[in-house]
Amino acid sequence: MVAGKDDAATALIHHGYTPPGGFAAVQPPVHKASTVIFANTQALHARQWKDKTGYTYGLHGTPTTFTLEERIATLEGGLQTLLLPSGLAAIALVDMALLRAGDEVLIPDNAYGPNKELARGELARWGIAHRFYDAMAPASLAAALSPATKLVWLEAAGSVTMEFPDLPALIRLVRAHGALIALDNTWGAGIAFNAFEIEPGLGVDISVHALTKYPSGGADVMMGSATTRDEQLHLQLKATHMRMGWGVGGNDAELLLRSLPTLPLRYHAQDAVGRQLAAWWGGRPEITQVLHPALAGSPGHDAWQRLCSASAGLFSVVLDARYSAAQVHAFVDALRLFKIGYSWAGPVSLVVPYQLSAMRAWPAWTGTLVRFSVGLEAVTDLIGDCEQALSVLG
Ligand SMILES: *Cc1c(COP(=O)(O)O)cnc(C)c1O
Repeated sequence: MVAGKDDAATALIHHGYTPPGGFAAVQPPVHKASTVIFANTQALHARQWKDKTGYTYGLHGTPTTFTLEERIATLEGGLQTLLLPSGLAAIALVDMALLRAGDEVLIPDNAYGPNKELARGELARWGIAHRFYDAMAPASLAAALSPATKLVWLEAAGSVTMEFPDLPALIRLVRAHGALIALDNTWGAGIAFNAFEIEPGLGVDISVHALTKYPSGGADVMMGSATTRDEQLHLQLKATHMRMGWGVGGNDAELLLRSLPTLPLRYHAQDAVGRQLAAWWGGRPEITQVLHPALAGSPGHDAWQRLCSASAGLFSVVLDARYSAAQVHAFVDALRLFKIGYSWAGPVSLVVPYQLSAMRAWPAWTGTLVRFSVGLEAVTDLIGDCEQALSVLG
């Protein structure tokens, strides 16, 4: 199946898994191991830890993690998936597997912050250059591409500022250049659009997903994935994955397998509440802009409308410049249902204030932004919470 379609739920629930004879539970069992036992020395020597084709050692895969890998590949519309201990580790895997000294990687200015920090830190130290581009201006990407460019990151929607880029335009530019394309697909989660088929015959090479967010849905598991459709590229990622020892535990994999069947329901439920809440904020006099790609007037709304069938339950508002950062922080502190904390897609609604001038080169943002992630509470309660907290702004 391909992702971004209404049948995602059915495909995730009715997924190939053969239970042991005579036992047919709904969920697959949890296999946990460091040691995997071999029948004899011949079996020990015949099995290669380097290719994951069989079970050799807990770090390199169990029936539980292999099943989860297959389901994430299904969700994303890819063919192969590797699991990592966090979404950030999945980003690091792609950089480490595909780049060498002298190469350059291009990253959107509005990318997930730690992706940029990795480029500024380890990649720079290893002689790998980076450049940030404005994802909302394809000309900015065109100008940044050079013979040294080997990898281009995409992210849709952008982190915190939520701009939705014209992904096909960006992908065509990189394809003409010949570099590889990796997408941070955490926001779309395999539901909003199909990363490998954004338009017929046009997609990314690698989709990275912070499974910590929607696939978990519980705010209690850290995990990431890197999904591909090309066998050679998968093997390249897998070699680095195995040499780095980035395995995941059976209990964490179990929690993901438990949550996946409800992912489409949760995604659409949080989408609906996010849009209602964002629309409510749009009528408030305290703000100058709501940043939500599904709302007309938000940056990239046209591209979102053309490419997406849904939206994550995330949005930001830019407070009017007449309010100081301290006043905005007092508003955030006054919220009761929205808890202050990073991440999203869990049951509890979350909020984080950001000072935009410190984060972005384009455009020249001013004022304080507040990013909301809706949980699973009733929308009337969430609106009521925002309303009571706004009273501190006077
Ligand atoms: C959370 C997040 C990550 C990192 O995932 P972790 O599992 O928290 O390391 C990467 N990209 C995006 C867009 C995210 O929201």
